[in-house]
Amino acid sequence: MTTYNFCAGPAMLPVEVMQQAQAELINWQQHGCSVMEVSHRSKSFMAIAAKAEQDLRDLLSIPDSYKVLFMHGGGRGQFSAVPLNLLSKDGEADYVVSGSWSKAAVEEAQKFGKVRTLDIRRNQDGQRSLVAAKDWDIHPTADYVHFCPNETVDGLEFTELPHTDVPLVADLSSTILSRPIDVSRFGLIYAGAQKNIGPSGLTLVIVREDLLARGQGKAIPSIMDYALTAGNDSMFNTPPTFAWYLAGLVFQWLKQQGGVAAMAQHNQAKAERLYQFIDQSAFYRNDVAPANRSWMNVPFLLADDSLNDRFVKEAEANGLLALKGHRLVGGMRASIYNAMPMAGVEALIAFMQAFERSHG
Ligand code: PMP
Repeated sequence: MTTYNFCAGPAMLPVEVMQQAQAELINWQQHGCSVMEVSHRSKSFMAIAAKAEQDLRDLLSIPDSYKVLFMHGGGRGQFSAVPLNLLSKDGEADYVVSGSWSKAAVEEAQKFGKVRTLDIRRNQDGQRSLVAAKDWDIHPTADYVHFCPNETVDGLEFTELPHTDVPLVADLSSTILSRPIDVSRFGLIYAGAQKNIGPSGLTLVIVREDLLARGQGKAIPSIMDYALTAGNDSMFNTPPTFAWYLAGLVFQWLKQQGGVAAMAQHNQAKAERLYQFIDQSAFYRNDVAPANRSWMNVPFLLADDSLNDRFVKEAEANGLLALKGHRLVGGMRASIYNAMPMAGVEALIAFMQAFERSHG
């Protein structure tokens, strides 16, 4: 039976990448040992580290004036690192709240300085949506404005960016590399690796060079210090080497697939297919306004909540894994990141139809 993993993260990785990693796991590039067992400062590891960065730069057309950092600590690590590095002593940062993760980012930032929140969530007649970026009330003197373009738990996404001179800081953990972005519009982008990049433990930060100076003179834990990390090519301490290697394989795979523009077409087609199916059904529903529906995380509810557990169990028995919704919102959630093929979405829809026939 073919299985498809709909987990929100750590998520499914491209099977070709896993096969390559498997083939060279024990004897990497004829070194007689695994890539996990070589020094991060060895010439051979430095070469894959540099290639991974270059491939990412190519994929996202990252301008030379930006540093790419390979850090530890996941998305939540960056919830701390961002204010630690960018929030000035007497300054204030604007935090846009669009769902669970951006709210968690606010709670962390409040430990380190003054934060103003802009809640853009709307709920009209049971339909959830977000206020458009052009209508956000960003304070012109804010040190930065933080937002999360794809809310993994809530299934809400937006692509429009605000026009302001305040640096934009974005948590792209669950949407990076899923479609093209204009990096030059951002001050800083970060993403935990475990959805569209590779295994957990690695965190990408793309930061405009002038912002590195903001942390100077501040007491920042060294492994969270952007300037220090940049100055040491992300090797101040031992980086998560295996995750970095695997991310490099994923970037090569993405290039072979045609890059992020091709991924966008693939992801849009998958998401549209699933939302269309949900919308025509009286048995399933998604309550997000079409303009804010996520391409990556598709939450859906059953008309009869008491069938939730049975749905998840029967889906697993049919090779469709990890469809249970996040504990904060309940229901179901299908995460369909880059590595999920259309065949996985079709298999899910076929199962949903069969489940509806037997329980509807
Ligand atoms: N931000 C977003 C958008 C996320 O989806 C997640 C994790 N699912 C996080 C932050 C937190 O990431 P981590 O568990 O790596 O700290």
